[in-house]
Amino acid sequence: MSEPCRLCGSTLSEPVSERDRHGGALRSIVCMGCGSVTNDPIPSDEELAAFYRSDYRVSYKGTAQPRMRQVWRNFGRMEQHLKANAGFYAGRSACLDLGSGSGEFMFMARTLGIGCVGIEPNQPYADYSREVLGLDVATQTLEETSFDAGSFDLIRLSHVMEHMRDPVRSLAVLRGWLADRGILYIEVPNILFDAAHKRRGAIFHYGHIFNFSPWTFRAAARRAGFEELPASFQRYGTTTSGFFAKGQAAEPGDVKSPANGERVRDALARHHVRMLPEPDNGSAIARGVRSVGARLSKIVAARRFSSPRQIADHFAARLERVG
Ligand SMILES: [Zn+2]
Repeated sequence: MSEPCRLCGSTLSEPVSERDRHGGALRSIVCMGCGSVTNDPIPSDEELAAFYRSDYRVSYKGTAQPRMRQVWRNFGRMEQHLKANAGFYAGRSACLDLGSGSGEFMFMARTLGIGCVGIEPNQPYADYSREVLGLDVATQTLEETSFDAGSFDLIRLSHVMEHMRDPVRSLAVLRGWLADRGILYIEVPNILFDAAHKRRGAIFHYGHIFNFSPWTFRAAARRAGFEELPASFQRYGTTTSGFFAKGQAAEPGDVKSPANGERVRDALARHHVRMLPEPDNGSAIARGVRSVGARLSKIVAARRFSSPRQIADHFAARLERVG
């Protein structure tokens, strides 16, 4: 017996997986009222804190420094994102980057005149952001954080909301910190893309409590009192993302979509019977050649620099020249 869906209030759900991406036990269900896919049960705050403490020990032994080609790739993606969404970022001055990760947005935003505060619970990422990139990042969680009402005209959550055990509650907190004319940017992995393209079983993860589709991602924002601005970048790709302004909070009944529930359930059922990813993009060999090529070009590009900070400075200078 599952608790009511935190987005649409429905108690109708179906199991979609009993395993995590490493083969460990993890039960996931889809809400047939709206299509949200969550861990079942949703872990408590205490269970999550314990998970991240042990995950931290396993996953981050020693080296906090990201690899050069990773740095190159991340800054390249951020440059693309900033160019594609320049209209949204123009004129912003005070940003909260919640889950600032390895700091690419904050570093580049400085060039655009946007002052940023970062919140990053992952110690190695936070240390790297402070020490290598010189950014204002606090090592803490959202629950440990507090700001005055209306402190920011931009709040960003990139690959963060899927980790929240109660996204509507957390977004409502952020809404209070956002100025009335402020905007919110959210980006999350898209489970419909993962179901179609990932290796069988390689989707679910204890730390990803909500697995969003384009509909449920927007439903969470609407429930917390946000409405989507038009012309957002990359709505329906590997991730789904959007820019939002303050609006009226939607009721649970407003975000119901049994059609999306069936769509997500069926996509996951197809995912589980498939042996190999669907060839969407030419043959497997051509994809392999392309991916090796892309990887080599990143290594070659990154070789021109001797430190992550030099790569960061290179991208920031290029952004400044474009203006
Ligand atoms: Zn639901």
